[in-house]
Amino acid sequence: MATATEPKVGGVSAAPAKTAPGNPVSKSGRKIGGVSKKAAHELAAKPVGGPAPAAPAHADFVWNGGPVITCPMIYTTFWGSSWTTTPSGLSEAGRLSQFCQDLVASQFMNVLSQYGASNGAGGGLFMQASFVNSVPASISDTDIHNILQTAINSGAIPEPPANNTTHVIIIYLDSGVAVKDAGLGIAMCEPSGDNAFGYHYFFKTAAGNPCYYAVIPSLDDTCLKNTGCGGGGCSLNLGQTQEQRRTQVTSHEFAEMVTDPAFPTGWFGPNSDENGDICNGESAFITVGANTWDVQPTYSKTDDIATNGASYCRATAPAPIPKLSPGPASITAAMASAQHMANYRPFLPLPTVFHDANTKQTTWDHNEVQRYMHRFFYPLQKDQVMGNFTATLRQFADILDKKK
Ligand SMILES: [Zn+2]
Repeated sequence: MATATEPKVGGVSAAPAKTAPGNPVSKSGRKIGGVSKKAAHELAAKPVGGPAPAAPAHADFVWNGGPVITCPMIYTTFWGSSWTTTPSGLSEAGRLSQFCQDLVASQFMNVLSQYGASNGAGGGLFMQASFVNSVPASISDTDIHNILQTAINSGAIPEPPANNTTHVIIIYLDSGVAVKDAGLGIAMCEPSGDNAFGYHYFFKTAAGNPCYYAVIPSLDDTCLKNTGCGGGGCSLNLGQTQEQRRTQVTSHEFAEMVTDPAFPTGWFGPNSDENGDICNGESAFITVGANTWDVQPTYSKTDDIATNGASYCRATAPAPIPKLSPGPASITAAMASAQHMANYRPFLPLPTVFHDANTKQTTWDHNEVQRYMHRFFYPLQKDQVMGNFTATLRQFADILDKKK
């Protein structure tokens, strides 16, 4: 568990290693899990020819006994006013939520299954999107906790369960919101000092439950240039679309967040770092239905062992890679519920929620709620299902609340 004085998060770093005295620093220099500019060892050319390697390249990457997200249920949340005030913002947000839905449906999950994070393709759900307004222009990690807690208090984002092995939140920032956190040593899409393209972390909610989240900044051209990536040598580049950068970083952080949510107690190596970091800066594509998305391959320990370190980064696998041992053991129940997930898909995603971080008010788009109900009851009218539909639903809700 990280403390205020010894922060540890998983991030994609944008810049080589900044070390803060007293903070544990991994080989790549990232003391938090983030997406970074490539560190020196990541840029080094791989040796060609010579004797074949005789051992896995990342033997130190192991399960450290902590939680793993066995059934990922993704909540996206879009922070900043431009998501809702411009038509392109709304469609970009819709595309990013679609990406998350496609990611958990895709063969990307077949790589993560070896770590006990899902049972493979289709072993996850996209639950709901929310929009958060009145977010300050520069926020710290503590600000992020506070805004998430407020959103949870007002019902915009659900309270994560105790011993959370399911709920993960992906925060997308618009170009009007930057992150600066001195304690974590992270600056993202700030006017200067940028050193990361994303990170994941966690906190305990007021109710005492672990809340796991990833932060994906705007990653627009200005952000990349301010990070010193205009001339190349970074894990993202100006030749990519903004959406490609965002999905690539999302896949990096998601792979880490589900395998090492309470960084660094899950799958982590002191030298290797997290699974996303080992393959930082690589780019690949996944196709789901009509959609093709840019993702980052992630580390496969199974391949590393099988090839003695010759090949270990992959974005997809044709079938779920069997669970490694030693790994998280007590996931049978979660796996069983993962197998039932297909039953829940007709109910998802839930209607979009709107939250204001300043007034702390949460609202719903009434038309969208109507459309949501329409999906279940069409062509019947709601009062043909129950005499007083609304009152009956309220009674149901009361009964469910009493059961808790
Ligand atoms: Zn990372």
